[in-house]
Amino acid sequence: NFAERSEEQVSGAKVIAQALKTQDVEYIFGIVGIPVTEIAIAAQQLGIKYIGMRNEQAACYAASAIGYLTSRPGVCLVVSGPGLIHALGGMANANMNCWPLLVIGGSSERNQETMGAFQEFPQVEACRLYTKFSARPSSIEAIPFVIEKAVRSSIYGRPGACYVDIPADFVNLQVNVNSIKYMERCMSPPISMAETSAVCTAASVIRNAKQPLLIIGKGAAYAHAEESIKKLVEQYKLPFLPTPMGKGVVPDNHPYCVGAARSRALQFADVIVLFGARLNWILHFGLPPRYQPDVKFIQVDICAEELGNNVKPAVTLLGNIHAVTKQLLEELDKTPWQYPPESKWWKTLREKMKSNEAASKELASKKSLPMNYYTVFYHVQEQLPRDCFVVSEGANTMDIGRTVLQNYLPRHRLDAGTFGTMGVGLGFAIAAAVVAKDRSPGQWIICVEGDSAFGFSGMEVETICRYNLPIILLVVNNNGIYQGFDTDTWKEMLKFQDATAVVPPMCLLPNSHYEQVMTAFGGKGYFVQTPEELQKSLRQSLADTTKPSLINIMIEPQATRKAQDFHWLTRSNM
Ligand code: ADP
Ligand code: MG
Repeated sequence: NFAERSEEQVSGAKVIAQALKTQDVEYIFGIVGIPVTEIAIAAQQLGIKYIGMRNEQAACYAASAIGYLTSRPGVCLVVSGPGLIHALGGMANANMNCWPLLVIGGSSERNQETMGAFQEFPQVEACRLYTKFSARPSSIEAIPFVIEKAVRSSIYGRPGACYVDIPADFVNLQVNVNSIKYMERCMSPPISMAETSAVCTAASVIRNAKQPLLIIGKGAAYAHAEESIKKLVEQYKLPFLPTPMGKGVVPDNHPYCVGAARSRALQFADVIVLFGARLNWILHFGLPPRYQPDVKFIQVDICAEELGNNVKPAVTLLGNIHAVTKQLLEELDKTPWQYPPESKWWKTLREKMKSNEAASKELASKKSLPMNYYTVFYHVQEQLPRDCFVVSEGANTMDIGRTVLQNYLPRHRLDAGTFGTMGVGLGFAIAAAVVAKDRSPGQWIICVEGDSAFGFSGMEVETICRYNLPIILLVVNNNGIYQGFDTDTWKEMLKFQDATAVVPPMCLLPNSHYEQVMTAFGGKGYFVQTPEELQKSLRQSLADTTKPSLINIMIEPQATRKAQDFHWLTRSNM
């Protein structure tokens, strides 16, 4: 009866959990401790999935990948002070990638503030630099309001990270149930379209292009624009180039994909349409010598401030990529036209693709041992399931791997991204695995790691085994960051001197048996040195759907990528 109900109390932890549930949060990644344990338990009781990780940084990477993969933010739940600080890396990475994310941090008790409380830190201020929105609810009653606002801010406009601070004393505080009003689930972002006149101009610039190029970025993947962009490519026979995470929006093996002639395509295109890709370091800022000085850029983006960055665009199309692409299709459809398949431009691109592909095939066919990168990736590609997720990080491992490993589906590649972050791999793989288990069971997550990159979050292998996730880790092991040494050189080096005096900073312990990290937790581990061993271990890993695996692949410690026309991606790390 009503009199009884009005007496009913609810804890702050339960209010937080219910507010998250109401906002359709499906997954929380975190590490529990004072004061957030009760929040995790309350959330799990409401049916929100909780994945306990081993470091907040990896937890935050995982939560951010949920946002990219599902269009609603994943939550990263952390304790106060150091817990929150560990999560900053994930927040920065999410914000740089324009991925939605919600971090919830416990913080010290309000009545101990400025007194040197346990793990006290100015968390709301600290997060400001890494987020679009950072706030602490003023009362338990305000929690649903602030959580709705954080979820909404994370997905509206340019997506990004948000932070909500929860003082420890909120967690167990009891309030009357009737005093809490839950906000309605925030709607998906409103769809905005570009100005009609700009669409007309863009269509005419495309029609008049001599050497057109479409660049498909991860913004297009996030916008679910695969259907409209594929139509644009095919209907008008336009060459396209995916950015690293734009791979798969249109399949890599599509005849109009010019990924294998990347530098050539960028350098000589006279009209470039950018679908959700910024002209940052990854695209060489849109400037000569990597581009023609008078190349006409057509920028499609949801963020007005992005338009005009580094170049003066010929046309700007502000809006949702899928909606804007449909506008473009409609406009182009008005006059029959297609880009001539026999053009000199297509010929140039096809020739360059052929010679680049031949060069990497030749490297791949080398029989010498230890193997080189190309040999490894060609053998992996042969067995890669078409619908798998590819997660990758490491310098050469990621850069060479990207050119050989194919993506056929959108949002199925996750890597170091805009921020060039090493250490994201295992968190991303775990996120992809929990999403795949729920939405597309049977899909594998193939996580291709350099040995250095693997080290950043190697203990997450325990997380992978605890939840028995469908992940195959490939550690491409060259005993170092960029390059390493073989065992003999190593021994020679240490003969007369202490390791700290002589071991080059890029060296890691040669011949490390990373596969034993996996076997330590009950997964399967393989140590492979030959193409045959690689083929066999990968076949076995893919055949056994009951366990995760780690294949430790020894390669030539001094192996590099093939000669480049331009020194493209320079990284400071692995
Ligand atoms: P890449 O690394 O693939 O080049 P970027 O991260 O540089 O991609 O660029 C992605 C762009 O996509 C960002 O500028 C972002 O504002 C934009 N974006 C994100 N979501 C949408 C959307 N739904 N519609 C249009 N643009 C979007
Ligand atoms: Mg290495």
